Amino acid sequence: MHSGTDRSIDFSTAAPVEGSLDVRWIHGEADEPSIQVHHYDPHTVLLRQSKRVNYEAPFLFLLFGNERALLLDTGATADPELFPLRATVDRLVADWLELHPREQYGLVVAHTHGHGDHVAADAQFADRPHTTVVAPEEEAVRSFFGFGDDWPAGTVDLDLGGRVLQVLGSPGHHKSSVTVHDPWTGILFTGDTVLPGRLYAFDFAAFRATLDRLVDFARTHTVTHVLGCHVEMTNRPGRDYPIGAAHQPDERPLQLTPGHLTAVRDAAESVADRRGIHRFDDFLLYNEPRPVDQLRLLGRGIAHKVRVAATPRRRRPGAAPR
Ligand SMILES: [Zn+2]
Repeated sequence: MHSGTDRSIDFSTAAPVEGSLDVRWIHGEADEPSIQVHHYDPHTVLLRQSKRVNYEAPFLFLLFGNERALLLDTGATADPELFPLRATVDRLVADWLELHPREQYGLVVAHTHGHGDHVAADAQFADRPHTTVVAPEEEAVRSFFGFGDDWPAGTVDLDLGGRVLQVLGSPGHHKSSVTVHDPWTGILFTGDTVLPGRLYAFDFAAFRATLDRLVDFARTHTVTHVLGCHVEMTNRPGRDYPIGAAHQPDERPLQLTPGHLTAVRDAAESVADRRGIHRFDDFLLYNEPRPVDQLRLLGRGIAHKVRVAATPRRRRPGAAPR
């Protein structure tokens, strides 16, 4: 190393590094853990909350830099007994610090957006030393990341210590949505804006402008994978699990490609004049869903629950998490 301490990790020269997405995610088996931990690489951890604890089963992300780590989202459940996120993160940080010792290592807890299934365990971190929890409201998000008056345009940096993330304002699904790019892995963390499932564009004009910015960004930066926060599609094109599904043994993988950003942008353009639900192979687009669309969605979820309750659940071979 030519700068920093001897122990400083170089997050630039080899970037983007190849990591592992060879994982079978937990998907609602009775005996699965409440949180699954998967190391993409030694400095990048992907986590999933169990559908057993909350059907939203969001993904969360922990990125280590030389001076501090970023926890992106805190899941759908506040109770540390049911969802011990703080304990899990503390253990992961301690394990990392054992290999990479540092004084006063920090933690930033921030969010892809402010919906309840992404911020629920914030309070578990309230008393954690050397920790900043960014409030999920738009004002706090803009001020913490340092967005100027050009929000949501303009890209800002978040430096974790040699690992400099880029943060893009991304309203449309939620007012305070952001997208995070990590040059070390090349991963673009898109929250609920782009994921293999139901894309709820509550402000369709803002959503389209966000997709334009994401496509532009991916054209000028290296994006290896696009990781959102949920999987709702089955492995059959165009087929999603009903909302509220607590068991998704045949869900498709989490990862999308930069090509999917273009696909979502083009899909949004093609249905811009039509409110309601539009089905595509890898996602469904909700253009400012009307009450009747929400009711249809809920009705399908309730019908599914009734069916599930009436059917004895079979264990499937090979379904155990690993
Ligand atoms: Zn969500």
